Amino acid sequence: MSTLTYTQLEEIPKIHAAAQAAFRSGRTKSVEFRKAQIVQVGYMLQDNEDRFKEALHSDLGRPHQETELLDFNPTYAEVKVAYDNVEKWIKPQNAPFGINWFAMKPRLTAEPKGVVLVISAFNVPVFLTMTPLISAIAGGNGCVLKPSEQTPAFSALVAELVPKYLDPELYHVINGGVPETTKILELPWDHIVYIGNARVGRIVATAAAQHLTPVTLELGGKNPVVVDPRADVALTARRLLWGRFSNAGQICVAPEYVLVPAHFQDALVGALKDAYAAFYPDGPATSDSFSRIVTSAHAARIKRMLDATEGTVVVGGDADVEKRYVAPTIVRDVKEGDSLLSDEIFGPVLTLVPVKDEDEAIAFIRAREHPLAVYVFTPDAAFERKVFDNTMSGAAVTNETVISAGVPGLPVGGVGSSGYGYYTGKQGFEEVIHWRVSLKNPGWVDRLVLHFRFPPYRVCVFAE
Ligand code: NAD
Repeated sequence: MSTLTYTQLEEIPKIHAAAQAAFRSGRTKSVEFRKAQIVQVGYMLQDNEDRFKEALHSDLGRPHQETELLDFNPTYAEVKVAYDNVEKWIKPQNAPFGINWFAMKPRLTAEPKGVVLVISAFNVPVFLTMTPLISAIAGGNGCVLKPSEQTPAFSALVAELVPKYLDPELYHVINGGVPETTKILELPWDHIVYIGNARVGRIVATAAAQHLTPVTLELGGKNPVVVDPRADVALTARRLLWGRFSNAGQICVAPEYVLVPAHFQDALVGALKDAYAAFYPDGPATSDSFSRIVTSAHAARIKRMLDATEGTVVVGGDADVEKRYVAPTIVRDVKEGDSLLSDEIFGPVLTLVPVKDEDEAIAFIRAREHPLAVYVFTPDAAFERKVFDNTMSGAAVTNETVISAGVPGLPVGGVGSSGYGYYTGKQGFEEVIHWRVSLKNPGWVDRLVLHFRFPPYRVCVFAE
Protein backbone atom coordinates (compact mmCIF):
# COMPACT_ATOMS: atom_id res chain seq x y z
CA MET A 1 0.00 0.00 0.00
CA SER A 2 1.30 3.47 -0.87
CA THR A 3 2.21 5.70 2.01
CA LEU A 4 0.15 8.81 2.50
CA THR A 5 1.50 11.71 4.53
CA TYR A 6 -1.17 13.01 6.85
CA THR A 7 -1.41 16.76 7.38
CA GLN A 8 -0.13 17.82 10.82
CA LEU A 9 -3.02 18.76 13.09
CA GLU A 10 -1.54 22.17 13.90
CA GLU A 11 -1.32 22.96 10.16
CA ILE A 12 -5.06 22.57 9.64
CA PRO A 13 -6.22 25.92 11.13
CA LYS A 14 -3.39 27.63 9.22
CA ILE A 15 -4.62 26.16 5.94
CA HIS A 16 -8.14 27.33 6.73
CA ALA A 17 -6.86 30.83 7.52
CA ALA A 18 -4.72 30.94 4.35
CA ALA A 19 -7.68 29.98 2.15
CA GLN A 20 -9.88 32.58 3.88
CA ALA A 21 -7.25 35.30 3.39
CA ALA A 22 -6.82 34.40 -0.28
CA PHE A 23 -10.58 34.45 -0.76
CA ARG A 24 -10.79 37.90 0.83
CA SER A 25 -8.21 39.19 -1.67
CA GLY A 26 -11.12 39.32 -4.13
CA ARG A 27 -9.34 37.66 -7.05
CA THR A 28 -11.98 34.97 -7.43
CA LYS A 29 -14.53 37.62 -8.44
CA SER A 30 -13.19 37.70 -11.97
CA VAL A 31 -14.73 35.24 -14.41
CA GLU A 32 -11.42 35.04 -16.30
CA PHE A 33 -9.70 33.89 -13.13
CA ARG A 34 -12.33 31.21 -12.53
CA LYS A 35 -12.16 29.95 -16.10
CA ALA A 36 -8.37 29.79 -15.97
CA GLN A 37 -8.50 27.71 -12.78
CA ILE A 38 -11.19 25.39 -14.19
CA VAL A 39 -8.99 24.76 -17.24
CA GLN A 40 -6.08 24.03 -14.92
CA VAL A 41 -8.14 21.26 -13.26
CA GLY A 42 -8.54 19.77 -16.74
CA TYR A 43 -4.80 20.02 -17.45
CA MET A 44 -3.94 18.54 -14.06
CA LEU A 45 -5.98 15.45 -14.94
CA GLN A 46 -4.94 15.26 -18.57
CA ASP A 47 -1.19 15.66 -17.93
CA ASN A 48 -1.27 13.03 -15.20
CA GLU A 49 -3.87 10.61 -16.47
CA ASP A 50 -1.48 7.64 -16.40
CA ARG A 51 -0.41 8.41 -12.85
CA PHE A 52 -4.03 8.63 -11.71
CA LYS A 53 -4.83 5.35 -13.44
CA GLU A 54 -1.87 3.68 -11.74
CA ALA A 55 -2.91 5.15 -8.39
CA LEU A 56 -6.41 3.78 -8.75
CA HIS A 57 -5.04 0.44 -9.87
CA SER A 58 -3.02 0.36 -6.66
CA ASP A 59 -5.88 1.55 -4.41
CA LEU A 60 -8.79 -0.32 -5.95
CA GLY A 61 -7.23 -2.87 -8.31
CA ARG A 62 -9.08 -0.86 -10.94
CA PRO A 63 -8.73 -1.70 -14.66
CA HIS A 64 -7.65 1.46 -16.49
CA GLN A 65 -10.68 1.30 -18.77
CA GLU A 66 -13.00 1.49 -15.78
CA THR A 67 -11.12 4.55 -14.51
CA GLU A 68 -11.61 6.23 -17.87
CA LEU A 69 -15.31 5.47 -17.90
CA LEU A 70 -16.21 6.12 -14.28
CA ASP A 71 -13.75 8.84 -13.33
CA PHE A 72 -12.14 10.64 -16.24
CA ASN A 73 -14.93 10.93 -18.81
CA PRO A 74 -17.53 12.47 -16.47
CA THR A 75 -14.93 14.73 -14.82
CA TYR A 76 -13.69 16.09 -18.17
CA ALA A 77 -17.32 16.70 -19.08
CA GLU A 78 -17.73 18.72 -15.87
CA VAL A 79 -14.64 20.80 -16.68
CA LYS A 80 -16.18 21.64 -20.04
CA VAL A 81 -19.67 22.34 -18.69
CA ALA A 82 -18.33 24.69 -16.01
CA TYR A 83 -15.90 26.42 -18.40
CA ASP A 84 -18.58 26.95 -21.07
CA ASN A 85 -21.30 28.11 -18.67
CA VAL A 86 -19.74 29.93 -15.73
CA GLU A 87 -20.09 33.31 -17.40
CA LYS A 88 -23.80 32.68 -17.98
CA TRP A 89 -24.30 31.28 -14.47
CA ILE A 90 -22.86 34.33 -12.76
CA LYS A 91 -24.66 36.90 -14.90
CA PRO A 92 -26.96 38.94 -12.61
CA GLN A 93 -30.60 38.03 -13.10
CA ASN A 94 -33.37 40.61 -13.15
CA ALA A 95 -36.42 39.89 -11.01
CA PRO A 96 -39.57 39.30 -13.09
CA PHE A 97 -41.08 42.55 -14.41
CA GLY A 98 -43.52 44.28 -12.04
CA ILE A 99 -44.93 47.74 -12.71
CA ASN A 100 -44.28 48.87 -9.12
CA TRP A 101 -40.72 47.55 -8.93
CA PHE A 102 -38.99 47.73 -12.29
CA ALA A 103 -37.62 51.22 -11.70
CA MET A 104 -35.70 49.90 -8.68
CA LYS A 105 -33.79 47.38 -10.83
CA PRO A 106 -34.38 44.41 -8.53
CA ARG A 107 -31.71 41.77 -9.21
CA LEU A 108 -30.13 38.55 -8.04
CA THR A 109 -26.38 38.07 -8.16
CA ALA A 110 -24.63 34.71 -7.65
CA GLU A 111 -22.01 35.50 -5.01
CA PRO A 112 -19.45 33.08 -3.62
CA LYS A 113 -19.98 31.78 -0.11
CA GLY A 114 -16.28 31.88 0.82
CA VAL A 115 -14.18 28.75 1.39
CA VAL A 116 -15.76 25.38 0.63
CA LEU A 117 -14.66 22.17 2.35
CA VAL A 118 -15.00 18.99 0.29
CA ILE A 119 -14.79 15.66 2.15
CA SER A 120 -15.02 12.88 -0.42
CA ALA A 121 -15.35 9.10 -0.54
CA PHE A 122 -12.90 6.56 -1.90
CA ASN A 123 -14.92 4.83 -4.57
CA VAL A 124 -14.81 7.11 -7.64
CA PRO A 125 -12.28 9.54 -6.24
CA VAL A 126 -11.38 11.67 -9.26
CA PHE A 127 -15.03 12.45 -9.99
CA LEU A 128 -16.05 12.84 -6.34
CA THR A 129 -13.15 15.13 -5.48
CA MET A 130 -12.74 17.18 -8.65
CA THR A 131 -16.40 17.81 -9.44
CA PRO A 132 -17.18 19.71 -6.21
CA LEU A 133 -13.83 21.52 -6.63
CA ILE A 134 -14.89 22.64 -10.12
CA SER A 135 -18.21 23.90 -8.70
CA ALA A 136 -16.40 25.73 -5.90
CA ILE A 137 -14.10 27.44 -8.41
CA ALA A 138 -17.00 28.33 -10.74
CA GLY A 139 -18.83 29.85 -7.78
CA GLY A 140 -15.79 32.03 -6.97
CA ASN A 141 -14.87 30.26 -3.75
CA GLY A 142 -11.67 29.04 -2.19
CA CYS A 143 -11.66 25.30 -1.57
CA VAL A 144 -10.04 22.73 0.72
CA LEU A 145 -10.15 19.10 -0.37
CA LYS A 146 -10.10 16.21 2.09
CA PRO A 147 -9.88 13.08 -0.08
CA SER A 148 -10.32 9.64 1.43
CA GLU A 149 -7.51 8.06 3.43
CA GLN A 150 -8.72 4.71 2.06
CA THR A 151 -7.22 5.54 -1.35
CA PRO A 152 -3.68 6.51 -0.26
CA ALA A 153 -2.10 6.55 -3.73
CA PHE A 154 -4.83 8.75 -5.16
CA SER A 155 -4.92 11.12 -2.18
CA ALA A 156 -1.12 11.51 -2.19
CA LEU A 157 -1.23 12.37 -5.88
CA VAL A 158 -3.93 14.99 -5.35
CA ALA A 159 -1.89 16.57 -2.55
CA GLU A 160 1.13 16.72 -4.87
CA LEU A 161 -0.67 18.10 -7.93
CA VAL A 162 -3.27 20.58 -6.69
CA PRO A 163 -0.72 23.18 -5.48
CA LYS A 164 1.26 22.78 -8.74
CA TYR A 165 -1.69 23.38 -11.05
CA LEU A 166 -4.02 25.66 -9.09
CA ASP A 167 -3.68 28.88 -7.12
CA PRO A 168 -1.91 27.45 -4.05
CA GLU A 169 -3.31 30.04 -1.66
CA LEU A 170 -6.93 29.48 -2.59
CA TYR A 171 -7.05 25.73 -3.16
CA HIS A 172 -5.59 23.26 -0.68
CA VAL A 173 -5.52 19.56 0.14
CA ILE A 174 -5.60 18.16 3.65
CA ASN A 175 -4.94 14.45 4.08
CA GLY A 176 -5.75 12.29 7.03
CA GLY A 177 -8.21 10.07 8.82
CA VAL A 178 -10.67 10.62 11.64
CA PRO A 179 -8.48 12.85 13.93
CA GLU A 180 -7.58 15.16 11.04
CA THR A 181 -11.15 15.33 9.73
CA THR A 182 -12.46 15.96 13.24
CA LYS A 183 -10.05 18.88 13.55
CA ILE A 184 -11.10 20.18 10.15
CA LEU A 185 -14.75 20.06 11.19
CA GLU A 186 -14.10 22.28 14.22
CA LEU A 187 -13.43 25.19 11.87
CA PRO A 188 -16.00 27.64 10.48
CA TRP A 189 -16.24 26.73 6.79
CA ASP A 190 -18.57 28.63 4.50
CA HIS A 191 -20.00 25.48 2.91
CA ILE A 192 -19.27 21.76 3.28
CA VAL A 193 -19.77 19.12 0.60
CA TYR A 194 -19.61 15.66 2.16
CA ILE A 195 -19.74 12.51 0.02
CA GLY A 196 -19.75 9.22 1.93
CA ASN A 197 -21.76 7.08 4.28
CA ALA A 198 -24.72 8.31 6.32
CA ARG A 199 -23.15 7.61 9.74
CA VAL A 200 -20.35 10.07 9.03
CA GLY A 201 -22.84 12.32 7.22
CA ARG A 202 -24.57 12.85 10.56
CA ILE A 203 -21.22 13.68 12.22
CA VAL A 204 -20.47 16.23 9.51
CA ALA A 205 -23.93 17.83 9.67
CA THR A 206 -23.74 18.05 13.47
CA ALA A 207 -20.31 19.69 13.39
CA ALA A 208 -21.43 22.10 10.66
CA ALA A 209 -24.46 23.10 12.72
CA GLN A 210 -22.16 24.56 15.41
CA HIS A 211 -21.13 27.23 12.91
CA LEU A 212 -24.44 27.31 11.01
CA THR A 213 -22.44 26.15 7.99
CA PRO A 214 -24.62 24.97 5.10
CA VAL A 215 -23.95 21.40 4.01
CA THR A 216 -24.44 19.27 0.93
CA LEU A 217 -24.72 15.60 1.92
CA GLU A 218 -24.24 12.95 -0.76
CA LEU A 219 -24.90 9.65 0.95
CA GLY A 220 -25.69 6.08 -0.03
CA GLY A 221 -28.36 3.45 0.39
CA LYS A 222 -29.76 0.42 -1.38
CA ASN A 223 -30.89 0.99 -4.95
CA PRO A 224 -33.72 -1.29 -6.08
CA VAL A 225 -34.46 -2.59 -9.57
CA VAL A 226 -37.96 -3.54 -10.65
CA VAL A 227 -38.06 -6.00 -13.55
CA ASP A 228 -41.07 -6.38 -15.83
CA PRO A 229 -41.30 -9.97 -17.17
CA ARG A 230 -41.85 -8.43 -20.62
CA ALA A 231 -38.37 -6.80 -20.49
CA ASP A 232 -35.61 -7.86 -22.90
CA VAL A 233 -34.03 -10.35 -20.54
CA ALA A 234 -30.56 -10.52 -22.15
CA LEU A 235 -30.19 -6.72 -22.20
CA THR A 236 -31.51 -6.48 -18.64
CA ALA A 237 -29.00 -9.07 -17.44
CA ARG A 238 -26.04 -7.40 -19.18
CA ARG A 239 -26.80 -3.93 -17.87
CA LEU A 240 -27.55 -5.16 -14.36
CA LEU A 241 -24.30 -7.09 -14.14
CA TRP A 242 -22.25 -4.24 -15.53
CA GLY A 243 -23.80 -1.77 -13.07
CA ARG A 244 -23.36 -4.10 -10.13
CA PHE A 245 -19.86 -5.44 -10.86
CA SER A 246 -18.11 -2.28 -12.16
CA ASN A 247 -15.61 -1.04 -9.58
CA ALA A 248 -16.43 -4.27 -7.72
CA GLY A 249 -19.82 -2.91 -6.76
CA GLN A 250 -18.42 0.17 -5.04
CA ILE A 251 -20.62 2.71 -6.79
CA CYS A 252 -23.22 4.69 -4.87
CA VAL A 253 -25.83 4.34 -7.63
CA ALA A 254 -25.16 0.65 -8.36
CA PRO A 255 -28.22 -1.60 -8.44
CA GLU A 256 -28.23 -3.47 -5.11
CA TYR A 257 -31.25 -5.73 -5.30
CA VAL A 258 -33.63 -6.85 -8.03
CA LEU A 259 -37.35 -7.26 -7.41
CA VAL A 260 -38.27 -9.89 -9.99
CA PRO A 261 -41.61 -11.66 -10.50
CA ALA A 262 -41.17 -15.16 -9.02
CA HIS A 263 -42.23 -16.86 -12.28
CA PHE A 264 -39.57 -14.88 -14.18
CA GLN A 265 -36.65 -15.47 -11.81
CA ASP A 266 -35.39 -18.62 -13.63
CA ALA A 267 -35.34 -16.81 -16.96
CA LEU A 268 -33.47 -13.83 -15.46
CA VAL A 269 -30.98 -16.10 -13.68
CA GLY A 270 -30.31 -17.92 -16.97
CA ALA A 271 -29.60 -14.63 -18.75
CA LEU A 272 -27.45 -13.38 -15.85
CA LYS A 273 -25.36 -16.57 -16.01
CA ASP A 274 -24.87 -16.10 -19.76
CA ALA A 275 -23.79 -12.47 -19.25
CA TYR A 276 -21.47 -13.51 -16.41
CA ALA A 277 -19.78 -16.14 -18.61
CA ALA A 278 -19.35 -13.54 -21.37
CA PHE A 279 -17.87 -10.94 -18.97
CA TYR A 280 -15.41 -13.33 -17.30
CA PRO A 281 -14.69 -16.18 -19.76
CA ASP A 282 -11.76 -17.46 -17.67
CA GLY A 283 -13.41 -16.70 -14.33
CA PRO A 284 -13.33 -13.37 -12.46
CA ALA A 285 -10.42 -14.12 -10.08
CA THR A 286 -7.79 -13.79 -12.81
CA SER A 287 -9.73 -11.36 -14.98
CA ASP A 288 -8.08 -8.00 -15.62
CA SER A 289 -11.57 -6.53 -16.03
CA PHE A 290 -12.59 -6.75 -12.39
CA SER A 291 -11.64 -4.43 -9.51
CA ARG A 292 -10.79 -5.17 -5.89
CA ILE A 293 -12.44 -4.01 -2.66
CA VAL A 294 -10.82 -0.91 -1.20
CA THR A 295 -9.63 -2.52 2.07
CA SER A 296 -9.54 -6.02 3.60
CA ALA A 297 -11.85 -4.73 6.34
CA HIS A 298 -14.52 -3.92 3.74
CA ALA A 299 -13.88 -7.28 1.98
CA ALA A 300 -14.38 -9.05 5.33
CA ARG A 301 -17.60 -7.07 5.95
CA ILE A 302 -19.04 -8.14 2.58
CA LYS A 303 -17.95 -11.75 3.15
CA ARG A 304 -19.80 -11.75 6.50
CA MET A 305 -22.97 -10.56 4.75
CA LEU A 306 -22.56 -13.33 2.15
CA ASP A 307 -21.85 -16.02 4.75
CA ALA A 308 -25.04 -15.10 6.59
CA THR A 309 -27.39 -15.07 3.60
CA GLU A 310 -30.18 -17.61 3.42
CA GLY A 311 -30.53 -17.04 -0.31
CA THR A 312 -29.03 -19.39 -2.91
CA VAL A 313 -25.70 -18.42 -4.44
CA VAL A 314 -25.98 -18.82 -8.21
CA VAL A 315 -22.43 -17.82 -9.15
CA GLY A 316 -19.46 -16.48 -7.18
CA GLY A 317 -19.74 -16.41 -3.41
CA ASP A 318 -16.03 -16.88 -2.69
CA ALA A 319 -13.72 -14.24 -1.23
CA ASP A 320 -10.04 -13.79 -0.39
CA VAL A 321 -10.10 -11.13 2.27
CA GLU A 322 -6.30 -10.64 2.40
CA LYS A 323 -6.24 -9.98 -1.36
CA ARG A 324 -9.30 -7.70 -1.05
CA TYR A 325 -11.10 -9.97 -3.51
CA VAL A 326 -14.81 -10.69 -3.40
CA ALA A 327 -16.02 -12.66 -6.41
CA PRO A 328 -18.81 -11.11 -8.46
CA THR A 329 -21.76 -12.92 -6.95
CA ILE A 330 -25.43 -13.47 -7.77
CA VAL A 331 -27.76 -14.63 -5.00
CA ARG A 332 -31.33 -15.71 -5.75
CA ASP A 333 -34.43 -16.33 -3.63
CA VAL A 334 -33.45 -13.73 -1.08
CA LYS A 335 -36.23 -12.95 1.37
CA GLU A 336 -37.19 -10.08 3.63
CA GLY A 337 -34.93 -9.96 6.70
CA ASP A 338 -31.89 -11.49 4.92
CA SER A 339 -28.37 -10.22 5.71
CA LEU A 340 -28.07 -8.96 2.13
CA LEU A 341 -31.10 -6.72 2.55
CA SER A 342 -30.03 -4.93 5.73
CA ASP A 343 -27.18 -2.45 5.11
CA GLU A 344 -25.77 -1.19 1.83
CA ILE A 345 -23.49 -3.95 0.50
CA PHE A 346 -21.21 -1.66 -1.53
CA GLY A 347 -19.66 -4.73 -3.10
CA PRO A 348 -20.11 -7.04 -6.11
CA VAL A 349 -23.20 -8.92 -4.92
CA LEU A 350 -26.40 -8.83 -6.93
CA THR A 351 -29.39 -9.90 -4.87
CA LEU A 352 -32.56 -11.28 -6.47
CA VAL A 353 -35.73 -10.92 -4.44
CA PRO A 354 -38.75 -12.76 -5.91
CA VAL A 355 -42.07 -10.89 -5.66
CA LYS A 356 -45.59 -11.55 -6.91
CA ASP A 357 -45.87 -8.51 -9.15
CA GLU A 358 -44.99 -4.81 -9.45
CA ASP A 359 -47.43 -3.88 -6.66
CA GLU A 360 -45.47 -6.01 -4.22
CA ALA A 361 -42.21 -4.57 -5.59
CA ILE A 362 -43.48 -1.02 -5.04
CA ALA A 363 -44.61 -1.86 -1.49
CA PHE A 364 -41.15 -3.34 -0.80
CA ILE A 365 -39.42 -0.14 -1.92
CA ARG A 366 -41.85 2.12 -0.08
CA ALA A 367 -41.23 0.28 3.17
CA ARG A 368 -37.57 1.37 3.03
CA GLU A 369 -35.52 4.59 3.04
CA HIS A 370 -35.48 6.63 -0.16
CA PRO A 371 -32.55 5.44 -2.32
CA LEU A 372 -30.28 7.36 -4.67
CA ALA A 373 -31.80 5.56 -7.66
CA VAL A 374 -34.77 3.39 -8.60
CA TYR A 375 -34.26 1.31 -11.74
CA VAL A 376 -36.96 -0.20 -13.93
CA PHE A 377 -36.51 -2.66 -16.80
CA THR A 378 -39.59 -2.65 -18.98
CA PRO A 379 -40.78 -1.93 -22.53
CA ASP A 380 -43.99 -0.44 -21.11
CA ALA A 381 -44.29 3.27 -20.28
CA ALA A 382 -47.30 2.64 -17.99
CA PHE A 383 -45.30 0.09 -15.94
CA GLU A 384 -42.43 2.54 -15.67
CA ARG A 385 -44.74 5.40 -14.58
CA LYS A 386 -46.45 3.24 -12.00
CA VAL A 387 -43.14 2.42 -10.30
CA PHE A 388 -41.76 5.96 -10.45
CA ASP A 389 -45.02 7.66 -9.43
CA ASN A 390 -45.23 5.51 -6.31
CA THR A 391 -41.62 5.73 -5.12
CA MET A 392 -39.10 8.45 -4.31
CA SER A 393 -35.38 8.53 -5.17
CA GLY A 394 -32.58 10.78 -6.41
CA ALA A 395 -32.83 9.27 -9.91
CA ALA A 396 -35.50 7.32 -11.83
CA VAL A 397 -33.88 5.34 -14.64
CA THR A 398 -35.36 2.98 -17.22
CA ASN A 399 -33.57 0.09 -18.92
CA GLU A 400 -30.17 1.26 -17.69
CA THR A 401 -28.07 1.43 -14.53
CA VAL A 402 -25.43 3.79 -13.09
CA ILE A 403 -24.68 5.98 -16.12
CA SER A 404 -27.22 8.71 -15.29
CA ALA A 405 -24.68 9.95 -12.71
CA GLY A 406 -22.24 10.84 -15.51
CA VAL A 407 -24.59 12.62 -17.91
CA PRO A 408 -23.84 16.36 -18.19
CA GLY A 409 -26.88 18.38 -17.15
CA LEU A 410 -28.17 15.73 -14.73
CA PRO A 411 -27.00 16.57 -11.21
CA VAL A 412 -26.29 13.85 -8.65
CA GLY A 413 -28.24 14.04 -5.41
CA GLY A 414 -30.31 12.03 -3.00
CA VAL A 415 -33.54 12.51 -1.11
CA GLY A 416 -34.31 11.60 2.49
CA SER A 417 -31.64 9.32 3.91
CA SER A 418 -29.66 9.24 0.64
CA GLY A 419 -28.75 12.88 1.22
CA TYR A 420 -29.62 16.43 0.27
CA GLY A 421 -28.30 18.94 -2.22
CA TYR A 422 -26.54 18.22 -5.50
CA TYR A 423 -23.18 18.04 -7.15
CA THR A 424 -22.17 18.52 -10.79
CA GLY A 425 -23.27 21.16 -13.27
CA LYS A 426 -25.44 24.17 -12.60
CA GLN A 427 -27.07 22.64 -9.53
CA GLY A 428 -23.63 21.87 -8.05
CA PHE A 429 -22.62 25.47 -8.69
CA GLU A 430 -25.80 26.74 -7.00
CA GLU A 431 -24.91 24.80 -3.83
CA VAL A 432 -21.80 26.90 -3.30
CA ILE A 433 -23.13 30.37 -4.10
CA HIS A 434 -25.72 32.50 -2.44
CA TRP A 435 -28.16 34.69 -4.30
CA ARG A 436 -27.49 38.22 -3.14
CA VAL A 437 -30.45 40.43 -3.94
CA SER A 438 -30.01 44.06 -4.88
CA LEU A 439 -32.25 47.03 -5.49
CA LYS A 440 -31.53 50.67 -6.27
CA ASN A 441 -34.51 52.95 -5.74
CA PRO A 442 -34.54 56.43 -7.31
CA GLY A 443 -36.09 59.28 -5.28
CA TRP A 444 -39.00 59.95 -7.68
CA VAL A 445 -40.50 56.53 -6.87
CA ASP A 446 -41.69 57.90 -3.50
CA ARG A 447 -43.58 60.70 -5.20
CA LEU A 448 -45.15 58.46 -7.85
CA VAL A 449 -45.74 55.07 -6.26
CA LEU A 450 -44.59 54.52 -2.74
CA HIS A 451 -45.67 57.74 -1.00
CA PHE A 452 -48.43 55.96 0.97
CA ARG A 453 -45.98 53.92 3.04
CA PHE A 454 -45.02 56.85 5.23
CA PRO A 455 -47.15 57.61 8.31
CA PRO A 456 -49.68 58.92 8.96
CA TYR A 457 -51.38 55.97 7.11
CA ARG A 458 -54.31 56.55 4.81
CA VAL A 459 -56.15 54.21 2.44
CA CYS A 460 -53.73 51.89 0.63
CA VAL A 461 -53.81 52.29 -3.13
CA PHE A 462 -50.87 49.93 -3.74
CA ALA A 463 -51.58 46.70 -5.55
CA GLU A 464 -49.47 44.52 -7.77
P1 NAD B 1 -14.77 6.80 3.09
O1 NAD B 1 -14.40 5.76 4.08
O2 NAD B 1 -13.79 7.18 2.04
O3 NAD B 1 -15.23 8.08 3.92
C1 NAD B 1 -15.70 9.25 3.28
C2 NAD B 1 -15.01 10.44 3.88
O4 NAD B 1 -15.42 10.58 5.25
C3 NAD B 1 -13.49 10.30 3.90
O5 NAD B 1 -12.90 11.47 3.40
C4 NAD B 1 -13.18 10.07 5.38
O6 NAD B 1 -11.92 10.56 5.77
C5 NAD B 1 -14.30 10.81 6.07
N1 NAD B 1 -14.55 10.30 7.42
C6 NAD B 1 -14.51 9.01 7.81
N2 NAD B 1 -14.81 8.93 9.14
C7 NAD B 1 -15.02 10.20 9.57
C8 NAD B 1 -15.39 10.78 10.83
N3 NAD B 1 -15.58 10.03 11.91
N4 NAD B 1 -15.53 12.12 10.89
C9 NAD B 1 -15.36 12.88 9.79
N5 NAD B 1 -15.03 12.39 8.56
C10 NAD B 1 -14.86 11.07 8.46
O7 NAD B 1 -16.04 6.36 2.28
P2 NAD B 1 -17.42 5.76 2.76
O8 NAD B 1 -18.09 6.66 3.69
O9 NAD B 1 -17.26 4.33 3.10
O10 NAD B 1 -18.10 5.86 1.30
C11 NAD B 1 -18.99 4.97 0.83
C12 NAD B 1 -20.40 5.52 1.01
O11 NAD B 1 -20.52 6.73 0.30
C13 NAD B 1 -21.46 4.62 0.47
O12 NAD B 1 -22.56 4.65 1.33
C14 NAD B 1 -21.80 5.24 -0.86
O13 NAD B 1 -23.09 4.92 -1.32
C15 NAD B 1 -21.65 6.70 -0.53
N6 NAD B 1 -21.40 7.49 -1.73
C16 NAD B 1 -22.35 8.37 -2.11
C17 NAD B 1 -22.18 9.11 -3.26
C18 NAD B 1 -23.24 10.04 -3.73
O14 NAD B 1 -23.05 10.67 -4.74
N7 NAD B 1 -24.36 10.15 -3.07
C19 NAD B 1 -21.00 8.96 -4.01
C20 NAD B 1 -20.04 8.07 -3.56
C21 NAD B 1 -20.24 7.33 -2.42
